[in-house]
Amino acid sequence: MILDGKKIQEKRLEILKEEIDESGITPRLATVIVGSDPASELYVRMKHRACEQVHIGSVGITLPESSGTGEVIREIQGLNRDPEVSGILVQLPLPAHVSTLQVIESVLPEKDVDGFHPANLGRLFAGTPVFSPCTPQGIMTLLYEYRIDPGGMHAVVMGRSIEVGRPMAALLLSADATVTITHSKTRNLPAITREADLLVVAIGKPRYVVPSMVKEGAVVIDVGTNRVDGVLCGDVDFDRVKDHASAITPVPGGVGPMTIATLMENTFLAAKRSLCTGVW
Ligand code: NAP
Repeated sequence: MILDGKKIQEKRLEILKEEIDESGITPRLATVIVGSDPASELYVRMKHRACEQVHIGSVGITLPESSGTGEVIREIQGLNRDPEVSGILVQLPLPAHVSTLQVIESVLPEKDVDGFHPANLGRLFAGTPVFSPCTPQGIMTLLYEYRIDPGGMHAVVMGRSIEVGRPMAALLLSADATVTITHSKTRNLPAITREADLLVVAIGKPRYVVPSMVKEGAVVIDVGTNRVDGVLCGDVDFDRVKDHASAITPVPGGVGPMTIATLMENTFLAAKRSLCTGVW
């Protein structure tokens, strides 16, 4: 089975648009981009397009590549204070001279629709999430939409980044999976991945996962987005692994669209929560 993230994205965005229209609320997303990395610009454009689609207002702030940490934080503080802004997204990666941690920590947790603020990550790991990072939350939604219940499964997560691997593991644990996290220092990796009923791959290595690393009938989620000779491909060798798995996400069209759908859902959630003072 191919887990079609594009199709599920369309379905979720359609439902979200109706909910937003019926609510009478106008959520607004502010994006902050530092510099002019073409991939980051493309991702931000896609997010603004999705906002339009679901009737979320959006404002895009582009700061010059030379901006220092303080300048980026000052911009974010302005957005924190702006009652018209429901959610703030800082497009990563930031230039090397800007402190990503300080910038992320400067976003009000109540507006942190990316879920990267330590307060949100802490809540996620405590099992009481508010905003979960969009990519792993989008994967949970995709599994839910295809009625794949991770409960009781052995889930193996490849990668331990703040954006994907770690929050993915926390979400799967909360969904009653037994979770193993692997990383670049893991020994005997194939022996571990072959044990996985559910394998989530987020390592940024093109077509790294081959059939000999996958248990027959496993669910395989490919988070990777790599460009090889101008062609987008995942971390999984899709053509060879697909007949080995019971379900698999394609790249493109799998996890990526779900990330955007979740960002929209988180932004509406932030807007709704902002109306209920004292709930945070
Ligand atoms: P990242 O920050 O570079 O982290 C990569 C992780 O993979 C690290 O934890 C690293 O281990 C681990 N790793 C590297 N080689 C490994 C190996 N051979 N076996 C096991 N683990 C290994 O990357 P990321 O931000 O998590 O992103 C991962 C991929 O997902 C990238 O291709 C990225 O573009 C893509 N992505 C896609 C979306 C989407 O919406 N589709 C969203 C986010 C990211 P160490 O910690 O030991 O270095």
